[in-house]
Amino acid sequence: MSDQVHIIGGGITGLFLAYHHTKRGDSVTLYEQSNTLGGVIGTKIVKEGLVELAANGVLLTDDMKSMLDDIGLTPVYPNKAAKRRYFFTNRKLSRLPISIFTGIRLVITVLFKKIKFNENQNLETWASQIFGASVTKNIIEPAIGGVYGTRLDSLQAESIFSKWEGTGKKTILQELKKNKSKTYGTVSFPQGMGDLVSHLVRYLEPKIQIKTQFPPVQLEEILTWKGKIRFSTSLKILIPILGDRIEPHEVPNLLSITTITRFGKNHLTKKPCFGVLFGKNEGIRALGVLSNSDIFSGRAKDGLHSETWIYPSVAKTGDSITWESILEEDRKVITKKDDAPTAVYVTSWNGVFPAYDRKLFLFNQKLDSLEADWLAKGTDIRFFGNYRKGIGLRSLFESTRGE
Ligand SMILES: Cc1cc2nc3c(=O)[nH]c(=O)nc-3n(C[C@H](O)[C@H](O)[C@H](O)COP(=O)(O)OP(=O)(O)OC[C@H]3O[C@@H](n4cnc5c(N)ncnc54)[C@H](O)[C@@H]3O)c2cc1C
Repeated sequence: MSDQVHIIGGGITGLFLAYHHTKRGDSVTLYEQSNTLGGVIGTKIVKEGLVELAANGVLLTDDMKSMLDDIGLTPVYPNKAAKRRYFFTNRKLSRLPISIFTGIRLVITVLFKKIKFNENQNLETWASQIFGASVTKNIIEPAIGGVYGTRLDSLQAESIFSKWEGTGKKTILQELKKNKSKTYGTVSFPQGMGDLVSHLVRYLEPKIQIKTQFPPVQLEEILTWKGKIRFSTSLKILIPILGDRIEPHEVPNLLSITTITRFGKNHLTKKPCFGVLFGKNEGIRALGVLSNSDIFSGRAKDGLHSETWIYPSVAKTGDSITWESILEEDRKVITKKDDAPTAVYVTSWNGVFPAYDRKLFLFNQKLDSLEADWLAKGTDIRFFGNYRKGIGLRSLFESTRGE
């Protein structure tokens, strides 16, 4: 039987929800407050090449491939030469920043150690106990920090690994295998990530009702609507919508991120690479940098190189310092050279990421119980977004598919 579905929020989460419901034959209305769809995702075409405003790529899976076939979009695969991924720890670039002995210990831990979460420990303390200080500092800190937009001491294992049981009964390998679906690496699209949005919209337009510039509506009114209600606004927007259903001490922490695309004549590293992840206290304020034009051909014009640097917004400590100068100082630590950029494009997102900490874990439990209470009273209302089951597009695609 086909359902009436109201989707509030036309970012990529709302578009994925609309896609899955359309496939099931549901009757969908998508409400978007602004006059454009896609939310934070978008690609700016500048004279030097492409500038991504948020996501630079998406992890490709079989289900994602069939969605791309449906919407008539061909992925752009990364260049082979860009497989190289660097860590910058102990003030140098390295592909494996731990000793062979530590590496062997890590393999043994992954194979045999049973994983138990500890709600009183932040991710740094917890990971150090499980994996040891070297693996935590040199691998986990740069890798997780770069994805979650902050440092390990602001995060929590239970929140980050929400698909794991973490009760001390399963090894890390068993937890990993349980949730593993085949992936084909990170891909983008011919005109960047904006292509994903425009193709999804073109596919959905004849099949659903899209209401852009839809004025914000009170939750009380939404609760009177007939059919399924699906929220896909960002967490920052959702909190005021929920109003006094969330106590002040339950409000989750939000992170602000700045992404900077730099075009220049010279490479960041001697050999082409995917990018560099930065450890804590390494004299660099960025969390990571992607070597765009090494990864995807055609990202920069006229022989230029393009890099995207990700910063926690707190890295800019005052108005007298510019993002451009922060980036050039960071870059010099790696290249050891002064090297003027050709062009720099800065995008700052305020409160765009939830902090994957204990507060977020408890907030999600609260949302689960609100959903269950409403359902018991006959209203089918659910919440989706990068604060629920993972930040990345693959998690958003998978979490919206199964509902
Ligand atoms: C800098 C950066 C880099 C990233 N890099 C990657 C990456 O490389 N790979 C990856 O997989 N992920 C990446 N991500 C994560 C990913 O881009 C986001 O998690 C995802 O795009 C969030 O989408 P969303 O639809 O949930 O939220 P949003 O994009 O915030 O969309 C929410 C939508 O709801 C609308 N809205 C708000 N209020 C209302 C209302 N009252 N009524 C109706 N509509 C409303 C908004 O206008 C908006 O369009 C990155 C994110 C950032 C910020």
